[in-house]
Amino acid sequence: MSATVPLAERIRAVVRDDVRAMKAYPVAQAEGLIKLDLMENPFGLPPELRGELARRLAALEVNRYPAPRPAGLMAALRSAMDIPQDAGILLGNGSDELISILAQACARPGAKVLSLAPSFVMYEASARLAQMGFEAVPLRADFSLDLNALLEAIAAHAPALVYLAYPNNPTGNLYPRSAIEAVADAAPGLVIVDEAYQPFALDTFMPAAGRIDNLVVMRTLSKSGLAGARLGYLAAKPEWIEQFDKVRPPFNVNVLTQCYVEFVLEHRDVLDRQAALLRRERDQLYRALGELGGVTVFPSAGNFLLFRIKSTDPDAASRVFQGLKQHKVLIKDLSRVHPLLANCLRVTVSFPEENAAFLEALGASLPGGAEAVGSES
Ligand SMILES: *Cc1c(COP(=O)(O)O)cnc(C)c1O
Repeated sequence: MSATVPLAERIRAVVRDDVRAMKAYPVAQAEGLIKLDLMENPFGLPPELRGELARRLAALEVNRYPAPRPAGLMAALRSAMDIPQDAGILLGNGSDELISILAQACARPGAKVLSLAPSFVMYEASARLAQMGFEAVPLRADFSLDLNALLEAIAAHAPALVYLAYPNNPTGNLYPRSAIEAVADAAPGLVIVDEAYQPFALDTFMPAAGRIDNLVVMRTLSKSGLAGARLGYLAAKPEWIEQFDKVRPPFNVNVLTQCYVEFVLEHRDVLDRQAALLRRERDQLYRALGELGGVTVFPSAGNFLLFRIKSTDPDAASRVFQGLKQHKVLIKDLSRVHPLLANCLRVTVSFPEENAAFLEALGASLPGGAEAVGSES
């Protein structure tokens, strides 16, 4: 009998309406392209480290489940990342998983997540999936924080979770430290400072994790060269960690990742050198974009730059994006993501050759074409 029920109908009867209406997280096809879309670190591990790492990985007992709270890895992170002794640590399969753990743990009926807009999309996606309310306070047109509006929204919505990306993705700016402290003071629930780009910002709230009751500092190794390994971590008062740890899938960080990250943290200087080079490249690329007629570039404390195509044509940025792709350079088109991002594109900073290839492709793709840019430089 059940075999006669059409599959589409069965899915409709079983899967939540809101889930069926969703779209899967879009990841662009990057085959054969210079990949400057997802803020990946372009460097791998130096060859001289790979042999030793391979031997360690080969010796792992992959037939055994991973340690659910790997003490060695947590101690290595605490010392490498200056996590205060008073703070507890929660590990995630990327910080994306930490964001969904927080939502699941806090999704009481009527509970809300508050953030700014535009910002990182997973704050809203995780809230919706957990059936929490989501509110976003718009940034100003120059992407600065309207603290009064944020404080009013906190008073109006009493959010369980407030997310502040520091620096913000995709705009690249840091907010005033005093504003974040004021938010933590005013918020009835948790305030999560998302420091995904901390190696490029060199500014952090980590010393306050474990000291301010409702402050969580969240980070990831993804933007530092380990996007494929998937390790995010957050630091907060141990009493919070104890609650969230119940929601964490018990074996969420696999043995290969645990071993890989411990090894890399023993060679922390490699990550630091790569981040320093990318910071220099970012500042150079910022200047080069600033000298280009036809674009407005925004200051960034991340390993990426947001820029706007100067045009009254609302499709100008999308055309530039396509032009870059034809020149084998993949960046991110944000022009339809939020009204404040009209005609905006985002490029990940890479090593000099890839940045030069991007600049050349951009010059050739801007309205007016290669000649217009050639005459500027
Ligand atoms: C990239 C990013 C993350 C997610 O990183 P994971 O790879 O899931 O660790 C979190 N927050 C912000 C602001 C990001 O840009």
